[in-house]
Amino acid sequence: STVGTAIATEDLMRTLQKYYGHGEFRTGQEEVVQAVLSGRDVSVFWCTGSGKSLCYQLPALHTGKIAVVVSPLISLMQDQVAHLNNTAGASAQGRKGRTLACFLGSAQSAQQTEAAALAGDYRLIYVTPEKLTSGTFLDRLATLHARQGLALLAVDEAHCVSQWGHDFRPSFAEIGAFRRRIPDVPIMALTATAVPRVQEDIRRSLGMNSSAFVSKNSVDRPNLFISVTRKKDGMAASVDYLTKKLLGDTSGSTIVYVPTVAETETLAEHLAERLPFSVKSYNGSQQAGYRERTHLDFLTGKVKVIVATVAFGMGIDKPDIRRVVHFGAPKTMEEYYQQIGRAGRDGLPAECEMLFVQSDFQRYKSGFYLDGLSSDEARSMMVKGIDALQDFATNAEGCRRASILRYFRETPAFGTRCGSCDTCEAQVAHAGDLERNFTKEAYVLLKAVAAACVDGPPPALTNLLAIVAGRYKPKFGVAPRRLAEAMIKLKAYRKENFNVGGAAEPILKEILPQIVRLGYLRTVTQTSKAPEGYSRSWETYTLQPRGREVVEHIDGGSHAASQ
Ligand code: ADP
Ligand code: ZN
Repeated sequence: STVGTAIATEDLMRTLQKYYGHGEFRTGQEEVVQAVLSGRDVSVFWCTGSGKSLCYQLPALHTGKIAVVVSPLISLMQDQVAHLNNTAGASAQGRKGRTLACFLGSAQSAQQTEAAALAGDYRLIYVTPEKLTSGTFLDRLATLHARQGLALLAVDEAHCVSQWGHDFRPSFAEIGAFRRRIPDVPIMALTATAVPRVQEDIRRSLGMNSSAFVSKNSVDRPNLFISVTRKKDGMAASVDYLTKKLLGDTSGSTIVYVPTVAETETLAEHLAERLPFSVKSYNGSQQAGYRERTHLDFLTGKVKVIVATVAFGMGIDKPDIRRVVHFGAPKTMEEYYQQIGRAGRDGLPAECEMLFVQSDFQRYKSGFYLDGLSSDEARSMMVKGIDALQDFATNAEGCRRASILRYFRETPAFGTRCGSCDTCEAQVAHAGDLERNFTKEAYVLLKAVAAACVDGPPPALTNLLAIVAGRYKPKFGVAPRRLAEAMIKLKAYRKENFNVGGAAEPILKEILPQIVRLGYLRTVTQTSKAPEGYSRSWETYTLQPRGREVVEHIDGGSHAASQ
């Protein structure tokens, strides 16, 4: 494919503002858009919530060419279509109300939409993988490309193409036909979960160039507290433990993962008897309609605890899941990390605890789990994932987070100790509380500040302390960014009113760095030079632009292919 010249940033920003109302790109977005617009294939390995969708939508909106988008999740595609047509389309086109996007499944009723799509009426065509590769669809896309130009093919949740991934879909393996039929359209693969082996597999399976642009960000989720505990002997003792835990902190919702269908039922029953809120089971042998209702009740908060098998999976996008508990080990490291990743999507602290017994791991290595896999290589990958999780769980000393990151071939930015997992916490306790972790305190204080700052100036710190101490109950449900903004407001306010609540100074001093660590604020060191030659430095806090730091950009094929 040809490599064009870069587009001026201001032009892209104008499109960003026009269709989305965003004032700035998040880290990595512009590079990805530029790469695909210059004709390169692109892989985007970013964690959930980083802003991947914009990477494939914007090129179409900017150029007027057409983007074809494939995803395994029909409901997610329908959501995006509705969103593009209602929000982006409406704001950009005013009353003209141009329809920007459509969804094509295989239903007969969609024939009119399909005809319109293939006539070039939509900028974004969302299709199921089955539809993309069925009948003459690719030929018709080729015709559309010749006439009007396709900007790209985007493959979302691209790990589904790999049989080494944790969620292989045979229909995804067929998408490679696109490159063979329409070779000069760039392909963009996007996923939040792919180890290097799977990343390479995605590239090969989709027929992407070895010179593809690869953008990765850290898989780390600093707001998750990670712990592992050996399960108590006997069901009753374990259920007691879990009940206490769920009663101890009743904020937000909880997913409890168990290994088998039978356990979802029994554990849900046990918990329902003891907990004062609604508990439901969820597994693959329940009727689809029943499962959907449970999922919906969970989303709306009517059901607070779900006891589920792995079937409760992709597409769970509830921001305030505060706890993911594994009652019994999951299969592999990939599966584990994917599942705990559903906690704390709002960026606020969440807790992930795995309870296991040694035999959990043995059972996954039995024929029942391995025989279904298609090749020796797939089996050996699976065994590796099982072993990694077992090492992770049984090593009671090393930092849990560091061990996860190393598994995903990442060097932890924090060094050897993350400070917010059980083993790090135990070490700190041992070291005499020198480096206490204030994450939880920061969270409470932030909530209080935000609740009190809804309008007007922030409260005096002494009043804040009353809120924190629970003597005053504020309205919650404030977004993390809003919390951080409130914190800054408070800082600024205090500068002008320096006599406000001096007693709380030490708390602020210790908590602010924690908020920085959670990624909402960053520190900027400022220096001033007085005429006499004295200079003075101090730290100020500014909002961290949303989205986590991109830690690595691999440009070109040699690195990407060598892993
Ligand atoms: P992902 O697909 O990586 O999980 P999404 O594409 O769903 O993430 O984006 C997550 C959220 O971030 C969305 O609410 C989206 O509107 C928002 N977002 C994306 N890009 C930007 C940006 N440049 N500025 C502000 N918000 C953004
Ligand atoms: Zn740690």
